[in-house]
Amino acid sequence: MATACPIDRAAVTDPSPMSSWREQRNERSRLRLTKALPPVFPAVVLRHALARPLVPPQPRLAVESYWRTHPIRADRLARALAVRSGTPKDWAWTVRTPSRADPAPFRSPPAPYRDLAHARGPGHCCVCGQPVYRLGWHRDLWGDGRPNARAKWHACCVAAWKTWVAPAAQIALLRKVQRRRCALTGARLLRDAEVDHRVPLFAVWRDHRGRPWPELLAFWGFSNLQAINRAAHRTKCAAEAGERASSRTTAGGSPPT
Ligand SMILES: [Zn+2]
Repeated sequence: MATACPIDRAAVTDPSPMSSWREQRNERSRLRLTKALPPVFPAVVLRHALARPLVPPQPRLAVESYWRTHPIRADRLARALAVRSGTPKDWAWTVRTPSRADPAPFRSPPAPYRDLAHARGPGHCCVCGQPVYRLGWHRDLWGDGRPNARAKWHACCVAAWKTWVAPAAQIALLRKVQRRRCALTGARLLRDAEVDHRVPLFAVWRDHRGRPWPELLAFWGFSNLQAINRAAHRTKCAAEAGERASSRTTAGGSPPT
């Protein structure tokens, strides 16, 4: 994953036509990046940075750009790190009572290490609970032997968290992964296609909340996301609303607590 660098200029792709403004800007950015690079830097991140249409001028921005551009990897890695931490002792997933301002509090992914009661302190990620090293990296590539005490997030966990709380932003990627076919009907995805949770989040709360925490996160990740046409989405939502109503009746109308 890591390599000693100087920058390999051969790795720079040269998408053309590139404006002279962009060329000048990228030349300056490459120089700044070269100067600022630590002796060891993840090779995949460097290759990614140098191939960007706009080269990030700082190592940290290069790392952020890498995970932002690879949200599926970020999602997988963040959940793998969460497995390493495990569910904190005495923790259970709870949500606020639904209100007008927040009618579906179960939509937020459970994050025990963001709670003060379970936070692991300086240098640990508030999403997965694992140590955070230089540049928000998840491994100690530099042999520091201790995490970066000022860091609270892994760069990969930032990208994963953004997907989990705002999955609609991944519509373009899902379209591509699904070869522009609606995951429900198989029809061609239209411009109005929307992102949907295969297992709806209310059902995650209702049926799966007793599962170990790292497993729960999968319901917010790409394995539970799909792009579907708006009409199919409406039909699915209507069926789910009916199912919720009947399960409330059966359960005596108990809200989440
Ligand atoms: Zn993390």
